[in-house]
Amino acid sequence: MFELFGIQITWRVLLDIGLVAFIYYNMILLVRGTRAAAVLYGMVVVLIIYYLSDLFNLYTLNALLGEFLASIFLIVVILFKNDIRKALASVGTKRFWTKSNVRDDTLDKLTKAVMTMSGSRTGAIIVIEKGVPLGDIIERGIEIDAKVNTELLETIFATDAPLHDGAVIIRRDRIVAAACILPLSSKLRGQPMYGTRHRAALGISEGSDAITVVVSEERGEVSVAMNGRLTTSLDAVRLRRVLRNALGR
Ligand code: ATP
Ligand code: MG
Repeated sequence: MFELFGIQITWRVLLDIGLVAFIYYNMILLVRGTRAAAVLYGMVVVLIIYYLSDLFNLYTLNALLGEFLASIFLIVVILFKNDIRKALASVGTKRFWTKSNVRDDTLDKLTKAVMTMSGSRTGAIIVIEKGVPLGDIIERGIEIDAKVNTELLETIFATDAPLHDGAVIIRRDRIVAAACILPLSSKLRGQPMYGTRHRAALGISEGSDAITVVVSEERGEVSVAMNGRLTTSLDAVRLRRVLRNALGR
């Protein structure tokens, strides 16, 4: 094709550059504003100090940082274990390319149940699965296979019902399990208003792309956890909007 800076630019080179740019762009989008971004800044600073120490012949510092950077791959894997699992799982599922397949009327029924439970201060935690399969968590709960239905959700979470403890999991338009135990997030520790129920919602959103709705038993407050973040004090309109944006089709 043509030559630039002495390099033959062929369609292969262009494709290569395009793909790498795409991956970098998506990685930046993924980490922007998260804990991962702070860690990455930290690593860049270490890298700069490493090069400076080489430039100014600070041998010992250079050797020390060199050792550290040699194991950077391992450090990255440990620090980003959850994010890597989430990213790989979403690439591995075909739903990576589409938004979701939860019907709007399912979201309406869910919103209605959540607002009723909020009014009656009934604690609830409902996980909506997206691209990352939650099979291991479903298996350890109590499996159900029923169409999403407002009254059924309210019945499950009724305080004296045997299934009310733990989370309900929704896959597409069906309730697939109840009484599921979710991994707890280590965030929210200093906030006594948000206990284990909210930490469980955040926990599942840190290791998957699931969207979780929480109703607080103490305050009736409705929150949504996704991508490791908790959005609190939602009313019906905002809950509906958040769910539709994240899941609607
Ligand atoms: P609330 O505002 O409703 O009181 P909270 O965030 O303060 O919520 P807790 O009071 O500790 O949380 O709520 C306990 C309930 O949360 C349990 O009865 C159980 O139903 C649910 N829960 C606790 N841990 C988990 C978990 N790991 N997975 C799923 N559900 C859990
Ligand atoms: Mg509590």
